[in-house]
Amino acid sequence: MWTDTRPAVEMPQLFERGGDLISFAGGLPDLDVLPLETISAQLSRLVRLGGKLAFQYSTPHVAKALVPAITDLMAREGAATTAENLVPTNGSQMGLMAVALGLAAPGQTVLVQTPAYPGAAAAFRTAGLDLCSIPEDADGLAPAGLRETVLRLRAEGRTARLLYCNPTFQNPTGTTLSLARREELLTVARELDLLVVEDNPYGLLGFDGQTADTLQGLAPEHVVYLGTFSKVFAPGLRCGWIAAPQEVAHALRRTTEVMALSPSALAQASLAAFHARNGWTELIDGYRASYRERSALMADALEAELGTQGPWTWERPEGGFYIWLRHREGVDTGTFVAAAAEQGVSFVPGSHFGLGGEHADALRLCFSHVPKKRIAEGISRLASAFQQGAAT
Ligand code: PMP
Repeated sequence: MWTDTRPAVEMPQLFERGGDLISFAGGLPDLDVLPLETISAQLSRLVRLGGKLAFQYSTPHVAKALVPAITDLMAREGAATTAENLVPTNGSQMGLMAVALGLAAPGQTVLVQTPAYPGAAAAFRTAGLDLCSIPEDADGLAPAGLRETVLRLRAEGRTARLLYCNPTFQNPTGTTLSLARREELLTVARELDLLVVEDNPYGLLGFDGQTADTLQGLAPEHVVYLGTFSKVFAPGLRCGWIAAPQEVAHALRRTTEVMALSPSALAQASLAAFHARNGWTELIDGYRASYRERSALMADALEAELGTQGPWTWERPEGGFYIWLRHREGVDTGTFVAAAAEQGVSFVPGSHFGLGGEHADALRLCFSHVPKKRIAEGISRLASAFQQGAAT
């Protein structure tokens, strides 16, 4: 009998629907922002004028026409790259799996900033890698702890070369690593010859247009950068890229070719056409405005329902999709799931973002796709669930 023990990427709640449920669980973008008519006209033109090419196999290289669309996005966060350094993916989830399969061997250890996006841990585990959590302090990923951990692992005879992190508007905490921390982290990476896997789906979603310099821009020779169009355009196209030092990019291209032969020529051509005609600024500004408003509605409702002196703490987000709520007394948020379902609201318990059940005292709320007029109601239901859960 086939028993499926593979790690899950997302909670089933990602696509939960139905009834009167208000879901703060799945990290879905607000696609009301997409100019569908413009895209539809561009697709039709592409098929008429481009003919069969967009429906043919391509090669494991980023299509020439798409390179400016990528370099434009990366330049907004202080990074430069060239076509030789780019590898196309069907989104960063594939990028994670390609890194896990192409840059490490089963039994090796990957260092992981935690709490972490569960899809990263799932990819590394599926490739047979061991995971080791890197300690955080009040300022996020702690470079001194990283150095200590790597030296300890190596003294034990383990190979630990990859470090996974999501430094800007992190999933799930929403936090951003300071420039000073980025530089310290890269100093350790240089000293210990680490390859930093920088997962950056949310970097351009600072609500007021603020950005942070990417690690890739600061030290391109030590970083494998995972970029995606999922949050600046749409996830349904399944299109992203890896930017890496040339020899690493070469190795990854061989892996991605085995995984998917080639990227979708149609998805790449559609994105290139959109960028050539519209650029990114207007679309990204639209996403920022939507998330700025939604995040404020959620933070205001949390303040009104939970107060700021009660058992729950959180930060007002400045970008991204998420608010990370922590219980000061360490109550396991998994105990509120049933009461929340009864109240008609959902969230992802924090333990989902630990490597072995840690962070159970927290939970992730996603505001990005919830209808604006439902956010306050959802938070009020959540507050009732907390009361009901605490009483049982
Ligand atoms: N990394 C992080 C941190 C994410 O939040 C996500 C999507 N939720 C992904 C990677 C995967 O995104 P995609 O495959 O759509 O590019």
